[in-house]
Amino acid sequence: MKPTPIDKIIIDGRTFYVKRDDLVDPHLSGNKFRKLHKLLQTPKENLNKIISYGGTQSNAMLAIAKMCYLKKWEFIYYTKPLSTSQRQQQVGNYFEAIKLGMKHIEIDNELYKDEIANIRFNLDAKTYIVDQGGAVKEAEEGLEVLANEIREQNIGVKSLATPSGTGTTALFLAKSLPEYRIYTTPCVGDVEYLKAQMLSLVDELPKNLVILKPKKKYHFAKLYPNFLDIYNKVLDAKIEFDLLYAPGMWEALLEHTKEEVLYIHSGGVTGNKSMLARYFK
Ligand SMILES: *Cc1c(COP(=O)(O)O)cnc(C)c1O
Repeated sequence: MKPTPIDKIIIDGRTFYVKRDDLVDPHLSGNKFRKLHKLLQTPKENLNKIISYGGTQSNAMLAIAKMCYLKKWEFIYYTKPLSTSQRQQQVGNYFEAIKLGMKHIEIDNELYKDEIANIRFNLDAKTYIVDQGGAVKEAEEGLEVLANEIREQNIGVKSLATPSGTGTTALFLAKSLPEYRIYTTPCVGDVEYLKAQMLSLVDELPKNLVILKPKKKYHFAKLYPNFLDIYNKVLDAKIEFDLLYAPGMWEALLEHTKEEVLYIHSGGVTGNKSMLARYFK
């Protein structure tokens, strides 16, 4: 595949560069595309089923659904019970994933933890489990591919940024690019929680990884007027970002950094339709 392009934008009078990983595919883009690299490279015949679990509007879910659609693999996705409004929604990641053939299984709240622990048992050789959000060691391979693209495109910027959920993307990017500074910020939980998540994948955090503290305590997927403002501000600069992760990253970058930064677009724009519907209800 060709490297994704890098665009230049001006925000609040500052120059930023954006690595357009959002342009890969409408469903399978951003860091989910990178994290699934190894599976995407796996020959069709080697597998016939992917199992995953997590949120019902997750970007990872939609990305895996698209991958399985392309590979003709069965995709089973476990979640806690769906709300009635979500079941009826005609937009958003869940709706799209079902259209792509995802088989959805709901588990009662009380049983959820145990049943998820149990999916690992008695798997046959052609079944593969992708842990929630794609937070797996295998993700490193795809992030090395991204790292090599950035190195080769060499635009003369020494700082990169990308927002964190599990932190898998920022962590492996920092590991693969020791000569760059990698900024990230937690969008799910606080800084300590993010560090703990990262330390479940490696023994020690890379020195070049800089975790910026969010301006205030944000709860994932809640609505914040300033997030919508930031979303619109970058949209005015002609690039659409997601409404869950990117606003916090942009806010932290504008507040804590001064240098030119290359922002790695993490995708997730398909989820905006359902998020905007919530903002404008
Ligand atoms: C999944 C996701 C993230 C978080 O990625 P991690 O590797 O889990 O930290 C960030 N932005 C978007 C748009 C995502 O979909």
